Amino acid sequence: MFDKVLIANRGEIALRVLRACRELGIQTVAVHSTADADAMHVRLADESVCIGPPPARDSYLNIPAIVAACEITGAEAVHPGYGFLSENARFADILTEHSIKFIGPSAEHIRIMGDKITAKLTAKELGIPVVPGSEGGIGDFAEARKVAADIGYPVIIKATAGGGGRGMKVAHSEHDLEIAMSTAQSEAKAAFGNGDVYIEKYLQKPRHIEIQVLGDGKGRAVHLGERDCSLQRRHQKIWEEAHSPALNAHQRDEIGNRVAAAMAKLGYEGVGTIEFLYENNEFYFIEMNTRLQVEHPVTEAITGLDLVQEQLRVAAGGDLPYTQEDITFSGHAIECRINAENPTTFAPSPGLVNAVHFPGGLGCRVDSALYAGYRIPPYYDSLIGKLIVSGKSRTECMMRLRRALSEFVIEGIETTIPLFQQLLTEPDIIDGHYDIHWLEQYLARQV
Ligand code: ADP
Repeated sequence: MFDKVLIANRGEIALRVLRACRELGIQTVAVHSTADADAMHVRLADESVCIGPPPARDSYLNIPAIVAACEITGAEAVHPGYGFLSENARFADILTEHSIKFIGPSAEHIRIMGDKITAKLTAKELGIPVVPGSEGGIGDFAEARKVAADIGYPVIIKATAGGGGRGMKVAHSEHDLEIAMSTAQSEAKAAFGNGDVYIEKYLQKPRHIEIQVLGDGKGRAVHLGERDCSLQRRHQKIWEEAHSPALNAHQRDEIGNRVAAAMAKLGYEGVGTIEFLYENNEFYFIEMNTRLQVEHPVTEAITGLDLVQEQLRVAAGGDLPYTQEDITFSGHAIECRINAENPTTFAPSPGLVNAVHFPGGLGCRVDSALYAGYRIPPYYDSLIGKLIVSGKSRTECMMRLRRALSEFVIEGIETTIPLFQQLLTEPDIIDGHYDIHWLEQYLARQV
């Protein structure tokens, strides 16, 4: 096992990784921007290094500064968390060149899955069902028209380099296609520096269901069940649960085993998530995330595994200590992402947090780096905490969630907690009847 790990991230995920390291007796190094000098991840780490000014491109994305921080502190490995450099193949390569272990898959696997077209082709070759669409990138409008006519409208134009829900445009008819394509291309060029796009069938009432996998990089892999992340605003998840209210054990085993076999064949190392849209009992691959995800705690709640410790063990060269038969599921779990935002307009609400009280009790976990007196800087993501509740059944979980939300105190800023309280009164949410469009339609009805 490693003696010292550098955590190249901030906020709740930096704390999450730090906790896993500490339990394994690993020393931790925090890195931070000048805006985060007082952050909790810096306070709790064994050592910390300032890596630059507030903008992420100058600090949390500053590869030379992070490599230098490893060298100064003698860290042998880097955990990238999620976001920032977690899916940056060049970063993984540079660390390898400096004999520092990147805790995650190989740079090659990050590259393959980071390009959505290559990812789809690879998934198809590995026997994973994909959304019908163009075989590769779309060159010009004539080709787009032909593909769209073949698969049938509506279609979605997506950026090859896409992420974070950006660079996606829906066309309901040939009439919309040209404008959808040029908007998606220019958005993709502006956001990712790569204007390449491809076309997919636009599914009208799917759920977003993803499979968590864990591989040892030596040809063994297991799946840890699914998460249902259909409740989304602007293609961003806000509520995740395991199991999905839409799947039975047989369906779970079938898709899970198929994905685990594919990852074993690929020789995938570490944790990863294969994301699907699920409609009419069919799964359609949309992308793979080659990193730990925000919503990983719901899987931890139903499997009893610590996914970050599993990542660390595999990265240190360990074998998977179990087979698929050893993975068992118990109960139900739900995560709510709490953002520093106005709960109706979603306008960011950074600033001074005067008072904090987190809910507790059986089956209640809060992952957050907030504390009373902390000033949330305006430079980063608005996620300030995650509430994860678990229970024997979905019903018990919903009751616990209602109770836990009512105990939360975060004073001085606005948060999205009231939105979740409101959602818990909706019959569709109570019954688990929602698809990826449900939340947007619900929010549109509120204004
Ligand atoms: P990103 O990498 O930007 O998150 P994804 O490919 O994972 O993009 O898609 C994000 C979300 O966009 C999905 O969860 C879903 O809500 C929606 N989406 C993506 N592809 C389709 C599709 N073919 N049909 C309908 N909705 C889609």
